[in-house]
Amino acid sequence: MRNFTFHPGPRLIAGDGQSAAIADLLPAGHCLFVSDQSLVGLGLTDPCRAALADSGHEVILFDRVEADPSFDTLMSAVAAGQEAGVASVVGFGGGSPMDVAKLAAYLLGSGDRVEDIWGVEKATGRKLPLILIPTTAGTGSEATPISVITCEGGVKMAVNARPLTADWTVLDPGLTLGLPRHVTAATGIDAMVHAVEAYTSARLKNPLSDALAREALKLLSANLLIACNEPANVEARSAMLLGAHLAGLAFSNAPVAGVHALAYPLGGIHHLPHGVSNALMLRHVMAHNLEAARELYAELAEIVEPDCAGHGTQARAAVLVDRLDRLVSDSGIAPRLRDHGIPAEDLPMLAREAMRQERLLVNNPCPIGEEDARRLYEAAW
Ligand SMILES: [Zn+2]
Repeated sequence: MRNFTFHPGPRLIAGDGQSAAIADLLPAGHCLFVSDQSLVGLGLTDPCRAALADSGHEVILFDRVEADPSFDTLMSAVAAGQEAGVASVVGFGGGSPMDVAKLAAYLLGSGDRVEDIWGVEKATGRKLPLILIPTTAGTGSEATPISVITCEGGVKMAVNARPLTADWTVLDPGLTLGLPRHVTAATGIDAMVHAVEAYTSARLKNPLSDALAREALKLLSANLLIACNEPANVEARSAMLLGAHLAGLAFSNAPVAGVHALAYPLGGIHHLPHGVSNALMLRHVMAHNLEAARELYAELAEIVEPDCAGHGTQARAAVLVDRLDRLVSDSGIAPRLRDHGIPAEDLPMLAREAMRQERLLVNNPCPIGEEDARRLYEAAW
């Protein structure tokens, strides 16, 4: 057997309405509940917070997490937890509230200074007990030990360390029924990119991450358009939520690569949603990788298009690229960079910025240099 390491994610509870069943999983005492104002306004957090209150937990609500959460937001959440002497943390929402909850739980539990733990595996202390409850089917943040915070000057800093892994995750599809179509589409495509990039990841992919990525792609590709077209379809929503979680487990072991590296500057500079940025670059980066990843793309093609099983490797690999591209356009995401207000004169600068994502580029099946990046942005424009 080839040597490999696999890290499991949090323990998992799944099922409609299960977000109200978390009270018994947390220790007695105050609980810092991290979310955002729109979810609280929609009443989505009510059953969960009521269950915590009924079981004697005092809930300290921190609902000021914004998209791309800032350093100040993180420190405010930590201060709220410190002031109340919380014994546990719940993160409820999309990637942003969950990222803040993960790092706040760690800083509150360990007493470490965040300045000392940016980077990979620098955090080695103990966090407070932590439950994560995703309300989108996309980021997979509930499955990963990664927290991304936007610091001074818009620079994204990350803590990526095993102690940030949640103790429990709750997958409650009922929480995702109200997601608008464009959010369902963008987050769902992001999750599919996680599965594809984990499966073709150059360094750390292994038999377990492969199995998770394959199952994730199967669930996501079969259900994305159903979830877009029939938002209240609980079965499709359940499949998307589970698929996104499995993809999260896959890429927290076998990290994402070129699509994400080229997507990040679109988010950082032009504030495109993360899933949209990935959708726009997917086809072009896959075309660039086609030679190097042909066998692996061919294997995945049979998952999204079983009819292509009898075809040769090259044909099946091309089928995967086309099929995923069709899913992007059928989901309603406008397919070109210019549709999203990216000016052509920004492309060289975007290519330069993408080169800073070295931690992701090293996972790509073949090299992407600055010239390649510029060509790929031009193709996507
Ligand atoms: Zn992503």
